[in-house]
Amino acid sequence: MKKIVSVLIISAMVFVSCTNTDKPERKTIGAATDTATLYQCPMHPEVTSTKPDTCSKCGMDLDKVEKK
Ligand SMILES: [Zn+2]
Repeated sequence: MKKIVSVLIISAMVFVSCTNTDKPERKTIGAATDTATLYQCPMHPEVTSTKPDTCSKCGMDLDKVEKK
């Protein structure tokens, strides 16, 4: 019985996170997200992009990092 509850909770969390990413711009109007966000390869720090991309050296998805 506990397993079923856990699965339901996980499903709900996935559903919520999916619906949140559908409209990311609604909540961040006016925020300078474009200039503050950088994508970087976890294996090659020198490989960066300003938008979601894959590493040109190893093909891994670039991780989002916050510029400081
Ligand atoms: Zn890489």
